Amino acid sequence: MATINQNYQKLAGSYLFVEIARRVAAYKEAHPEADIIRLGIGDVTQPLPQVCIEAMHKAVDEMGKAETFRGYGPEQGYEFLIEAIRKHNYTDRGIDIASDEIFVSDGSKSDTGNIQEIFGTDNRIAITDPVYPVYLDTNVMAGRTGEKQDNGYYAGVTYLPSTAANHFSPSLPTEHVDIIYLCCPNNPTGTTLSREALTAWVNYAKKEDAVILFDAAYAAYITEPDVPRSIYEIPGAKDVAIEFRSFSKTAGFTGTRCGYTVIPKTVTGKGKDGSRVKFRDLWNRRHTTKFNGTAYIVQRGAEAIYTEKGQRQVKELVSYYMENARIIREGLQAAGIKAYGGVNAPYIWLQTPNNMPSWDFFDLLLTKVNIVGTPGVGFGPCGEGYFRLTSFGDRENTKRAVERIKNQLKF
Ligand code: PLP
Repeated sequence: MATINQNYQKLAGSYLFVEIARRVAAYKEAHPEADIIRLGIGDVTQPLPQVCIEAMHKAVDEMGKAETFRGYGPEQGYEFLIEAIRKHNYTDRGIDIASDEIFVSDGSKSDTGNIQEIFGTDNRIAITDPVYPVYLDTNVMAGRTGEKQDNGYYAGVTYLPSTAANHFSPSLPTEHVDIIYLCCPNNPTGTTLSREALTAWVNYAKKEDAVILFDAAYAAYITEPDVPRSIYEIPGAKDVAIEFRSFSKTAGFTGTRCGYTVIPKTVTGKGKDGSRVKFRDLWNRRHTTKFNGTAYIVQRGAEAIYTEKGQRQVKELVSYYMENARIIREGLQAAGIKAYGGVNAPYIWLQTPNNMPSWDFFDLLLTKVNIVGTPGVGFGPCGEGYFRLTSFGDRENTKRAVERIKNQLKF
């Protein structure tokens, strides 16, 4: 009989969004007239930039002619896209990244989830609490953790509490860890790490011979000049950090699918005989074995955002969501609710009034003002007492939601 990967049995069910859907459906059934506004999910609502549409139409036409048809492409991505990424996000910003250190993919969820495969299962991981769940769950699947305990934590994992008390900038671990997941700008808290904080992490990683997995999926949302856009702005990071980027939130590609991972050749780990092995070479081996490249049409669409016109259109898109973020932040303030994030990220992380548990606040918002958000505790035990709203809705709904909160909820 085939046996299963028993690590999967350690996983908690995908409780968060299932439970949200259940509560919303139950409310809707009891109140069919309710005009529910959803500010819960991390998905975009605005159409793709026009430059992407035009580039993809052109690419479709190329696929229709024998002379320009493309079959399998390079697994790592087409040169035209890699060079555009390299120039725009790295070379022009004074960061030296080689073309063969960039791997185009179908998005950062796959990359941040799959990357752990090239690390030994005996590595100890550190994750922030609260956290984007993919980092933890993929390590549970791989057997890099023990069982989930009654306090909500998995045995064998180092959790880094990230709350208002430490300004959402977790302290360095007091024990040795081998792999550190950092997400900046952060989902779910919408906050960022300062240059000083990132420097401390890079120095820690160097001292402990650890690797930082740096998720910069929301880099396009940074508005403050001093927040690093890339971890490679920090001296020494090229020796210890792998960076993930995505076109999903940058250019509305959540349904179109494209992202990339940067692995400098200087990031190495210990091999069987004690020699240093380049993680880049292992990822290259994995990528070429398990992935057959992102669609040509999609890569042409992604390339288009790096043109002058493309940059203008992407900035407009990001500004649209960030204006929503401002409206939400200021509305919450007016209602007497303390809120974080929303300045360099499309997420607002609010502190529930009167220390209300996250799920109680969810019910209050749903039943009193018909707004759906995400309970903070769903992202980890330290998320208890917090709640996430997203600015990815359309403007009209965002404004209507905020008016309801301002006029009908006062704390
Ligand atoms: N990383 C973070 C922190 C995210 O919040 C998300 C999506 O919500 C992703 C990665 C996944 O992005 P992609 O659409 O590129 O898979």
